Amino acid sequence: MSDVKCKICQNKVEKSSDKFCSNHKLAKTKLQNGYELWLKAYDTLSYDDFLQQLLGLGDLVGILIKDVAEFELYFQVSK
Ligand SMILES: [Zn+2]
Repeated sequence: MSDVKCKICQNKVEKSSDKFCSNHKLAKTKLQNGYELWLKAYDTLSYDDFLQQLLGLGDLVGILIKDVAEFELYFQVSK
């Protein structure tokens, strides 16, 4: 077992190279798939805009996905 903790919920991660626990890792994968889908619908959409629009959907977005979206938006500089 590793002592590395999920950056979002502080649960232990499966592998020390992981940033998130298995729940949030899954949510991150869904988030990325969602972004790719949206990219097909919009001509241009930055990842940040996507995250912001997603968070604007409120309760339609699963809590785990929202966690990851907020994390990426506010704590990650992914330029
Ligand atoms: Zn987590």
